[in-house]
Amino acid sequence: MRLEHMTWPQAEAYFKNNDTVIIPLGSLECHGRHMPLGTDTLIPEKIIEYLEEKNDTVVAPMIPYGCTDYLASYPGTVNLGHDVLYQVLTAVTQSLKAHGARRFVVINGHGGNIPPLDRVSLDLYKQGCLLAQMNWWQMVWNITGDWEGRKPWHGGHGGGEETAAIMAIDPGLVDRSAIADAPMTGISDELPASGMRTVRFKGVDIPVNRMSRSVSENGWFGDDHPLVATAEWGDEMIRASADYIGEFIEVFKKAELPAAV
Ligand SMILES: [Zn+2]
Repeated sequence: MRLEHMTWPQAEAYFKNNDTVIIPLGSLECHGRHMPLGTDTLIPEKIIEYLEEKNDTVVAPMIPYGCTDYLASYPGTVNLGHDVLYQVLTAVTQSLKAHGARRFVVINGHGGNIPPLDRVSLDLYKQGCLLAQMNWWQMVWNITGDWEGRKPWHGGHGGGEETAAIMAIDPGLVDRSAIADAPMTGISDELPASGMRTVRFKGVDIPVNRMSRSVSENGWFGDDHPLVATAEWGDEMIRASADYIGEFIEVFKKAELPAAV
């Protein structure tokens, strides 16, 4: 059930009997030369499409922008930043809370959104509410125990995992001819890059934050090369995430709400 399709009396009736609401949260940002800027909204949207087949929890409209400071210099990326995203999430959840929502399930597509989400979650907890973060690309590796063994690539940014998910949604959105290696540049010969935000020294990863475009011109990061992606794998991940989230929501609805502090 989409909140934007309901009348206000329907919303009033829903919140009289239900205190759970789903909020999809994405980002508009570079995902490598081969992937669409809307990757982080398209995947949560598809998860919700499957989830809705079995679950009638109200879904608020997608928040299409997120906090993406590191990727901001790639063309097309739009960054709300930490403070604005925190304000947006606060306004959305407080509005819904005023109508009766107490349990919030955020289906999140982007890692940079997690710090503002953490902050909003704790604010809500202190007000007698609960917020659960469904960070699909992290959860999916633990949902089905044997995935790690079958697919030895752990999800990065714009790598095989996300590329597979977008191929499952619409293969036409992935430019396979643009898939290429994405070598990372360190800050010196002795301090090579080991990730988007780290350099490696004597086997230890040290965060030295830089704009991502200085680290890799291509814009995808991780151990899971986009070439390993298949639409079948993507569909399996999206369906497994939707099934898991549906089961989670049923249990989450029964959890006792905290006392306001
Ligand atoms: Zn992403």
